[in-house]
Amino acid sequence: MKYVQGEILTTDGFITGYISFEENQGVFEVRKGVPPEKPIVKGFILPTFVNAHIHIGDSFIRDKHLKLPCNVKDLVAPPYGLKHRLLKEASEQEILEGIQMSLGEMTNSGTSCFCDFREGGLIGIFQLRKAMKNSSVDSVILSRPSQMTYEKEELDRLLQNSNGVGLSSISDWEPAEIEKISKHVRKKKKLFALHASEVVRENIDRILDLRPNLLIHMIAATKADLDRVNDANIPIVVCPRSYAFFHLKNNLALMKKTGVTILLGTDNAMINTPDVGEEVRFLHNTGLFSLEELLTKVTYTPRKALNLDDCIQGRDLSEKFIVLERDSLKPLYVSK
Ligand SMILES: [Zn+2]
Repeated sequence: MKYVQGEILTTDGFITGYISFEENQGVFEVRKGVPPEKPIVKGFILPTFVNAHIHIGDSFIRDKHLKLPCNVKDLVAPPYGLKHRLLKEASEQEILEGIQMSLGEMTNSGTSCFCDFREGGLIGIFQLRKAMKNSSVDSVILSRPSQMTYEKEELDRLLQNSNGVGLSSISDWEPAEIEKISKHVRKKKKLFALHASEVVRENIDRILDLRPNLLIHMIAATKADLDRVNDANIPIVVCPRSYAFFHLKNNLALMKKTGVTILLGTDNAMINTPDVGEEVRFLHNTGLFSLEELLTKVTYTPRKALNLDDCIQGRDLSEKFIVLERDSLKPLYVSK
């Protein structure tokens, strides 16, 4: 039997105690007090991380060490942003190796599930599944039509092979097309997610009319917008390191005030490592949220918000857990 000791994050906050476990066989006991033998590590003990927003397909670009434009439109906006040109030029092998690099980084940093905004239509989904074949990380795949139009048959096939649809913002779309897509996704009872109000504020009525299950960013939204999102019970994923890269102002203090459900994501894998723990460390330095709040946002909250029952077996501390070093918040131990 092995032991880890420290502050254990539960849905009711931290408790001080220890976990006894057998490697590869899961957790046996979570207990208060002191373990009967010397623990292998001491620190903050919590369920594995969930990265609530990533575009893992562009990981290969990070490996090129290019000087990337710090401007959302030039870098990532479809269809002409640099990322989309590089994706078009890349070989499948290059893309797969990039995804596998990110999967390895997630495993090592204690992330057990990620929600991917899969670009490139059906081919994009198959590429991700191929790259994930031997990986222990789980995914929620939100796919995207290959063109900026609604095609019924294509959408049916996308939804058969993914957990839902994740689109760029309403500003990129013809209103009629995006409305048809959201209606179709809802009818099939799959997830509909959308980037919204990242650089400029977008019309909240148009966003909410699409009845999204999940919104990404909303950092240019007003308090009234956030209140309405909160009333509609829609979680928002924020990606703080990405905002720093693009020099974007954020409204996280306002979000906190409105009480909207916040999840954390790492966004474009070409810019940031897929380690959502980095977002926690980044935000922890701002002092805006307590450590308990931040760690809950990357463990229990996303599992609930994304309804991860069918994605994650170890939903709580019953199977997989990680131990973070108390000062650096870096993983000391990741259970297998
Ligand atoms: Zn994104």
